[in-house]
Amino acid sequence: MNLDIEPLEFNGNWNLSPSIENTDHIQINEKYGLFINGKFIDPNSGKYFPSINPSNETKLALIAEANTKDIDLAVKSARNAYNDVWSKMAPNERGKYIFRIARIIQEKAKELAIIESLDGGKPIRESRDIDIPLAAAHFFYYAGWADKLNFAFPNRKPKSMGVVGQIIPWNFPLMMAAWKIAPALATGNTVVLKPAESTSITALKLAEIIQEAELPNGVVNIVTGAASTGELIVNHNDIDKIAFTGSTTVGKSIMKSILGSSKKSTMELGGKAANIVFDDAPLDQAVEGIVNGIYFNQGHVCCAGSRLLIQESVNEIFIRKLKDRIQSLILGDPLDKNTDIGAINSKSQLDTINKYIDLGKKEGAKIFQLNCQIPNKGFWCAPTLFTNVSQSHTIAQEEIFGPVLAIQTFRTTKEAIEKANNTPYGLSAGVWTDKGSKIFNLTSKLQAGVIWANTYNKFDPTSPFGGYKESGYGREGGLHGLEAYLNLE
Ligand code: NAD
Ligand code: MN
Repeated sequence: MNLDIEPLEFNGNWNLSPSIENTDHIQINEKYGLFINGKFIDPNSGKYFPSINPSNETKLALIAEANTKDIDLAVKSARNAYNDVWSKMAPNERGKYIFRIARIIQEKAKELAIIESLDGGKPIRESRDIDIPLAAAHFFYYAGWADKLNFAFPNRKPKSMGVVGQIIPWNFPLMMAAWKIAPALATGNTVVLKPAESTSITALKLAEIIQEAELPNGVVNIVTGAASTGELIVNHNDIDKIAFTGSTTVGKSIMKSILGSSKKSTMELGGKAANIVFDDAPLDQAVEGIVNGIYFNQGHVCCAGSRLLIQESVNEIFIRKLKDRIQSLILGDPLDKNTDIGAINSKSQLDTINKYIDLGKKEGAKIFQLNCQIPNKGFWCAPTLFTNVSQSHTIAQEEIFGPVLAIQTFRTTKEAIEKANNTPYGLSAGVWTDKGSKIFNLTSKLQAGVIWANTYNKFDPTSPFGGYKESGYGREGGLHGLEAYLNLE
């Protein structure tokens, strides 16, 4: 084996004919109000802000900004719906509504996928094959639990909590809404949900779907706005639980705000996951897993495999294979079915990523990037990796939330575990080896809520997801995800 071979001279251009999704049949309104008590209403403030397409900076729609009065109205309508309708309804009837929502999401899957890619910048392949199907799957899965809660928790009495406030990020807009709304409804709660300000449109499309499903008014309210709107939800005194997904910084400030109140909470926060590749691993399969874990979706994944630990004896060959694969990635129009790497979600996120890339260089790590043409409009970042990274480097410590991989090596299993765990986060990890015994050894020692073996970033509604340490607490998905919306007596 000749390890001196340079990576393929490849400019990232396969010369594939473009295969762009047609947007003729999708419906995006010019302006969206707030979805409160079953209707779209104008915001009390009269204020709207634009949601843009991050791949070309064009405006897609105007989104309402909810203020104190609006949030109060949303919470009141959720409370009334809880008291008068939803908490009284037979559980199997509740289930029927949730099934209906799931089926309508499936019917509109193509339109939702295209809008998700337009508004958020992710490749259509991701939104079509992952985001939207998983959103529907979560509604289907939790619809099935609605009338079986007594079986889910034998000898305990599951009771709904009341009104839940839910705040979600921009990286999986519709899927995160589904992860939050489906279990809340199945357990008999009513909802006030706020999507992220840069990706509100699919949540508002979901509001239309909820109308179509004839869900009783006020059971789900969708309010839009930025951080200050989120704070109004967090601090509203008639909300029983806050479910938050987002950054660790904001999560901590929310925890402080609700301290001393009777509000329950679950927190899905940041991550700095390590993929650990042993010398007996199927290397080509591992390369695919690493690429999927950090580059697809532009690294906008809380459980992204943003660190890579390679066993020293295969370091050189593995990095060469990885660089070759990076050079074959296609960056470009998110609506092109050939696209691997879409746009960065916002200008501010791109600035953050670039700050970290500069820091990585300054701190002495060695950079390698996909050599490709960057479109002249929109927000883009070429897939990037750093070698010569040491444990103290900022890029090995902090969450970047972009397509930037920090690579280190290890000799022994013990060293791999120590390095992987040497982070304040504990969301996810990946293990690549041929040996089952190694997998079991590591999965019991790695401090992470989710550990994948010989695969990465695989999700299923039946499987709980969530972290510990600074990655948060509480689980979404599976039985655990039901428990998070119930008081068990
Ligand atoms: P963010 O914390 O800035 O924003 C998340 C949501 O909170 C948005 O809707 C935002 O408007 C709202 N918000 C912001 N400040 C608020 C405040 N003070 N009070 C109430 N609400 C507020 O995060 P982001 O930049 O939108 O998303 C990226 C982060 O989310 C990353 O750190 C990522 O790891 C994390 N994330 C975690 C998971 C998970 O399941 N653990 C999933 C996706 C994203
Ligand atoms: Mn947008």
